[in-house]
Amino acid sequence: MRLLLKPALSRSWRDSETLQFGTVRRYAGVLEHVDRPLRDFLGLIDGTRDRPALLAAAERTGLGREPTEALLDTLERTGLLDDADATREALARFPQPHRDQLEPDLASLSLVHSGPGAGPAVLARRAGQRVEVRGAGRIGAAVAAVLAAGGTGTVTVADAGRVGPGDCSPAGLPPSDIGRLRATAAREAVHRVRGRRPAPRTRRAPDRRPPDLVVLAPRDGSGAFAGGTYAAKQLLRGGIPHLYVGVVEELGVVGPLVVPGVSACGHCLVLAREDEDAVWPRLLAQIAEEGPGRARTPACDTALATAVAGLAALHAQLHLDDVRPPSVDGWCEVSASDGMTRRLRLRGHPDCGCLWQPMPPG
Ligand SMILES: [Zn+2]
Repeated sequence: MRLLLKPALSRSWRDSETLQFGTVRRYAGVLEHVDRPLRDFLGLIDGTRDRPALLAAAERTGLGREPTEALLDTLERTGLLDDADATREALARFPQPHRDQLEPDLASLSLVHSGPGAGPAVLARRAGQRVEVRGAGRIGAAVAAVLAAGGTGTVTVADAGRVGPGDCSPAGLPPSDIGRLRATAAREAVHRVRGRRPAPRTRRAPDRRPPDLVVLAPRDGSGAFAGGTYAAKQLLRGGIPHLYVGVVEELGVVGPLVVPGVSACGHCLVLAREDEDAVWPRLLAQIAEEGPGRARTPACDTALATAVAGLAALHAQLHLDDVRPPSVDGWCEVSASDGMTRRLRLRGHPDCGCLWQPMPPG
């Protein structure tokens, strides 16, 4: 393993001999008594040498083997070191120009996942993951594009009909797609963010693997209210994690992210709302896309939709990267009226049964 001082961390001198790595306190590490030889040695931790080579170099410069061993241990423990080979191998899983685009994403992962090689391992895993987004509106198409840009290997978008003006957003489908098939336009958006030409439709057999995650982002915004829809029940039965996301009126919602058999589901949320308002399921049925009570011009603020799509993509990535996002057993709301975000807790509802026993996959 060739060691590298994480390039994501800034280096600033607190005084003439105290070097601080990083700015955000949580990731900041401070080295004291940094004299000229030590400063030169730190310059050698540039991804071209493994530990034995670094120790040999330290002995040559008179730093001494044992102090250098201790220094490297401290740097590793503080989360300042990465594995340069793992970094190269992770990026090599992505074709150009996407590979270069992903360097800042990998730099971020190297801070979130501390040990040498931990961040690169997460990025490498993303390359093999598959996410299915249902809904190619202002939010769904943007979530798909952001996930694809962030390294999720396969992102598919399912929707019917043709792109309307209200489906467009700077993060998803451009106005030049108006009138085109939504599924085609979304597929091209996913390719575009990776800097590639859209792949021609091939006769290749479809991927039969179940997706690692399904994002439910229906264009009518009903994803904001979760719901015990037929599709959601199928996902629960199949053991497939799924995330609800939507904007309704001036409220954007991310969550719940349902891990079947482990966390509260969308139906739990419907039952919880029904406890507060007995006619809630009746209202929900009427405001859905085909319902008679649907708003004539559904509200969807562009800035709110973009924030919600970004937050949903972040939660999806956290889940796929084995970090529990706050939309598990909860949901997050973003309001267009004050810009505030808040997280609400969701418990498994006793009448739902989704947590009675783990659902067998398949
Ligand atoms: Zn449930």
